[in-house]
Amino acid sequence: MATVKGDVHDIGKNIVGVVLACNDFEIHDLGVMVPCDVILKEARERKVDVIGLSGLITPSLDEMVHVAREMERSGFELPLLIGGATTSSKHTAVKIAPQYHGPVVHVKDASKSVGVVERLSRPESRGDLDQANRAQQEKERASFRQRLERKLVPYAEAFRRRLVLDWSNPAPAVPSFLGTRSLRSIPLAEIVPYIDWSPFFMSWELKGKYPRIFDDPERGARAKELFDDARKLLDRILAEKAIEAHAVYGFFPAWTEGDDIVLYEDESRQSERLRLPTLRQQWEREGQKSFRSLADYVAPRETGIPDYLGAFAVTAGHGVDRLVAEFESDHDDYNAIMAKALADRLAEALAEMLHRRARQEWGYGADESLSHDELIEEKYRGIRPASGYPTSPDHTEKRALWRLLDPEHAAGITLTESFAMHPGASVSGLYFSHPQARYFAVDMITRDQVENYASRKGMPIAEIERWLAPNLAYDPE
Ligand code: SAH
Repeated sequence: MATVKGDVHDIGKNIVGVVLACNDFEIHDLGVMVPCDVILKEARERKVDVIGLSGLITPSLDEMVHVAREMERSGFELPLLIGGATTSSKHTAVKIAPQYHGPVVHVKDASKSVGVVERLSRPESRGDLDQANRAQQEKERASFRQRLERKLVPYAEAFRRRLVLDWSNPAPAVPSFLGTRSLRSIPLAEIVPYIDWSPFFMSWELKGKYPRIFDDPERGARAKELFDDARKLLDRILAEKAIEAHAVYGFFPAWTEGDDIVLYEDESRQSERLRLPTLRQQWEREGQKSFRSLADYVAPRETGIPDYLGAFAVTAGHGVDRLVAEFESDHDDYNAIMAKALADRLAEALAEMLHRRARQEWGYGADESLSHDELIEEKYRGIRPASGYPTSPDHTEKRALWRLLDPEHAAGITLTESFAMHPGASVSGLYFSHPQARYFAVDMITRDQVENYASRKGMPIAEIERWLAPNLAYDPE
């Protein structure tokens, strides 16, 4: 098992490893950011029966396609298992399975992994599973071809029918400072109250909302146990300051030009600091009137009304590796996973805490009074979209964000070649202040937009097509 090259996320993979090991399978876990040639060499040398790939971010999907292709080229016959947050049975069927003649099975979660591996490792059940899996994948491919027939309007039309907002009422809020600020070694105790615990249970594959999950007849007891163990470890982390949290954020004069958000050096708005090209929706859903892009949420230059954009990067990942190594040397896989799950929670909580502070400093949130639950439900004005999510699916935009904020120096967060943030317990994104700013999904886009976007970004079309592979409404080959 391995998390593929460019990706650092491994909570799910490690849980799968523990679950399989508990069922008497021998696991060779190669860790994270593992290049394809290492995976295949190790698989051969250790004479494994199954290869499992994991990944969280969308560029990892492409890396998995690459591994499948290499398995085919090097004459492998072994089953290939695919898992991780952005993986799907659809992507596995449409993009990965066709590259490799052996069984390619998408495994939805750790609880499914035992059944799948057991059936694959027994000759009498292997054929059945393989056949059922291939039939299912054929269906997925057929439904994907239908999806390609969805009605997409040409990019020019989508732009013409963009969301037009009112910029005079209210006028854009003016931040209390411009430029970047960094916060080092933020006290963890300040962050803890902002933790959203529901995703914590999800990371352990227990679905349910905190705290109601404790009353669930099936999962309640397990949830309570996990929560108590989490609080215990969290107390230790706080007492020993075992994790360090840093943040950097800032506000910048901004306007849009076409579908680019342009940031300026200063309030005179004479010299450009950075350009953030955005992607626009083209899918005409029933009743859809406008086609959104994040550019719609910033005042157009021609309005002459001064507007601003915020940006942030936070981490609660420093120190986690040391903690994990300590648990692993004690063969305590459970707490090793727990430490990572908690670091992720702290990073998301810090993002929430910093966003609240940013709204205050931006002014429009100065007299906001929201409860914990309302904060978690993001009931406040404005949004903080993150690159790689549906509103801004292009991970490479983090390169621009890193130029703007320099989170590497400010907070020790680096980017891998797939634009995953390292340490993994990090969050970054943009702040938009408009009251009507909402998350949306860019979804499928056509070649005319990709060509336009590539030229605005100054990147070759083929490269953009590779990064945006999950969003292409056409086959680039
Ligand atoms: N309370 C949650 C917060 C993370 S999920 C937790 O602790 O895990 C919500 C965040 O994901 C948002 O604040 C935003 O940063 C990002 N997000 C959600 N939907 C998005 C979308 N469509 N496009 C971009 N970013 C999105």
